[in-house]
Amino acid sequence: MNRNIQAIIKREYEKRQKSAYDRLLEKEAEVYSKIPRLRDIDNEIKTCGIRYNKMLLAGRKPAYKVVEELQRKIDELKNIKKELLAAAGYPLNYLEMEYFCPRCKDTGFVDNGTGSEKCVCYRQMVINFLYDQSGHKLIENENFSFFNEKYYSSGVDKIKYGIEVSPRENILAIKNSCLRFVDNFDSPAEKNLFFSGPTGTGKTFMANCVAMELINRGYTILYQTASMLFNTINEYRIRSFREMDYDDTDYKNIFEVELLIIDDLGTESPSDARYAELLTILNTRQINNLSKPCKTIISTNIGLKKLQEYYDERVISRIIGCFNIFRFAGEDIRGIKKLSSKQPV
Ligand SMILES: [Zn+2]
Repeated sequence: MNRNIQAIIKREYEKRQKSAYDRLLEKEAEVYSKIPRLRDIDNEIKTCGIRYNKMLLAGRKPAYKVVEELQRKIDELKNIKKELLAAAGYPLNYLEMEYFCPRCKDTGFVDNGTGSEKCVCYRQMVINFLYDQSGHKLIENENFSFFNEKYYSSGVDKIKYGIEVSPRENILAIKNSCLRFVDNFDSPAEKNLFFSGPTGTGKTFMANCVAMELINRGYTILYQTASMLFNTINEYRIRSFREMDYDDTDYKNIFEVELLIIDDLGTESPSDARYAELLTILNTRQINNLSKPCKTIISTNIGLKKLQEYYDERVISRIIGCFNIFRFAGEDIRGIKKLSSKQPV
């Protein structure tokens, strides 16, 4: 996990602790104004320790007796406090810290008996952060549990669909390959994914399913449409030379993020596209992938042949060499979904 994320998460915990403490002070102020005696009792509890410490130093009584007496005194004061709170209609724990996560008291770490380990809330925070960082609002119902092959025809029609098998058989095979991709994500031998096919055949959905699965496993994801990607590159080219403090995180992420999704390749305006850059991205990521996961999913509405007209031949041969190529086929799912929401099938 990169240091940036750790620093952000650390700040978030500090913020949570501070807001729990601020909330406690607010509640204290409110209760003190209603029950002034409570403030005296709290002050007494706070000074108890000092008083008994002095007694301990004076050595007139054995230490264990002093400690016992201190404990008794504090318990007594706490009981009075509870009675006062109850009498005024407050819950007994009203003046306790309210943590966002009581398990770790908003520190992010819990004691497991042999040392400290990350709390479940820490992991959750990393995942939330990765969702935000992906540059794409991943939609909650775009994960494999919402996958439904019934949206794809079971009829074989090579002329209509351009594939030898039925769209349903085809999509099930693609789904299995995607699940394998997720499971083998750490393996340098696992190839990238290239999705081509007409609009509405589920390419972006499938890419999101893979992204969700990987985010849940703690990987870093960056989603970019082709035009966003080339904009980021263009902006970097222009601004990084002019501005001393230019933040090049987005640009660097394109090369370093564990999964890069390039959606709708070929739809960017030709003036934005930098084909040499695309080749550099693919080559750099391929080299990075040898030592750590650095994989790419490309989706496009246009076939490889057409892409060859748009892009340099070297880009295409890189795709052929390093990507598993999947052709999506079928009717436009968005149309089918609209229809089926009116007429249940
Ligand atoms: Zn926690």
